[in-house]
Amino acid sequence: MNQPQQTASLPALLPTATPPTWLGVMGGGQLGRMFAHAAQSMGYKVAVLEPAADCPAGDVAERLITAGYTDPAALAALSALCAAVTTEFENVPADSMALLAQASFVAPSAACVSIAQDRVAEKRFFVDCAAASGVMPAPHQVIASAADIAAIPDALLPGILKTVRMGYDGKGQVRVNSRADVQAAFAAMNGVTCLLEKMLPLAYEVSVLTARGADGASVVYPIAENVHRDGILFTTTVPGPNVDAACACRAQDAARAIVARLGYVGVLCIEFFVLDDGSLVVNEMAPRPHNSGHYTIDACVTSQFAQQVRAMARLPLGDCRQHSPAVMLNILGDLWFDGAAGENSEGGDGGDADSAREPAWDRLLALPGACLHLYGKDDARRGRKMGHATFVAPTLADAQAQLRAACAILGIAP
Ligand code: ATP
Ligand code: MG
Repeated sequence: MNQPQQTASLPALLPTATPPTWLGVMGGGQLGRMFAHAAQSMGYKVAVLEPAADCPAGDVAERLITAGYTDPAALAALSALCAAVTTEFENVPADSMALLAQASFVAPSAACVSIAQDRVAEKRFFVDCAAASGVMPAPHQVIASAADIAAIPDALLPGILKTVRMGYDGKGQVRVNSRADVQAAFAAMNGVTCLLEKMLPLAYEVSVLTARGADGASVVYPIAENVHRDGILFTTTVPGPNVDAACACRAQDAARAIVARLGYVGVLCIEFFVLDDGSLVVNEMAPRPHNSGHYTIDACVTSQFAQQVRAMARLPLGDCRQHSPAVMLNILGDLWFDGAAGENSEGGDGGDADSAREPAWDRLLALPGACLHLYGKDDARRGRKMGHATFVAPTLADAQAQLRAACAILGIAP
């Protein structure tokens, strides 16, 4: 059942992992859940390795291995069962991916995951790749000591201090205006190695989702325009209202160069900034399906999750074509509480400041082209991703109108 480890030189020797074989996923969150849905719809069985017994992906997978991500027995069980293994979160221990690769086909590889989970390695990779990709990352400097702080050039301030590892949804980031600010923020982060990035004048943000097969074939999805609120993705709009054809081409060409240079296998999402002067800057990459790619489930021929299944099973990659303009809205736990964004589905009780209640899904789903995806999380908390809704429509203007209507129904400021 197991396949030899992938190598760049032997892709043609890898047989396809055909259904109803097992596919494995490290991590039990919503990305794993949507991956499982896609894999199961193609006839595969899914095993999830995750420390929490109650998790979104575990609820739908045929098997849940409840164990730590570095548990050798659990990793051995996963690779013994599965023809191929992937990850749904970028902070998966790279050593575990390497261990799995001794017995199973693993995509993405431990080497690619290690670059994406370390901002210093990631920035170095982007710089090394710039001649081929045509894009550079933001000007930056590693901050690991007081001497590094003293050496910060004026041109890097004001900036953003980011922890090198484990950052997500804007966590582990502090905006800084001076060296004294950097010193205070660095101390508050207990002196963990950080990266100081120059604060850039962003006109808007985009991402490009790509997939590459073990045979080197790759596909690129349409460019997506992203709006963040409080450091968390708020909406993704495709086609992006601000994106022009030249910018889309540059970002897609850069994405092709980046996946080829990485020798990547699987779905990879690359985030870019578009600056006020129109220039493109590469921000970071996620070695997995991405929140900004959720619109592909309802608006593209092949969803990002189905694409991940195809890549890891060594099937031909699917058609990335978008059949409808789409806007994706993240649904956060705030909607379940009074005093924030939520509006009661049954006429609003105006009750306790923190009483949980269910948002008005009936009214949301009455909107034409509304597709609701909830992740099965019982415990709504502010800032927690509980689900998303995608609005597909014949025109972008119609999809945007449905988003505005949805925001009004849910009580979210548009
Ligand atoms: P996520 O995992 O949610 O993508 P993250 O925590 O890894 O986020 P980044 O993507 O690096 O962090 O930054 C989060 C947001 O902060 C960006 O989407 C952008 O809006 C803003 N930001 C980050 N770096 C810069 C910068 N150098 N200049 C201006 N804005 C920035
Ligand atoms: Mg980001």
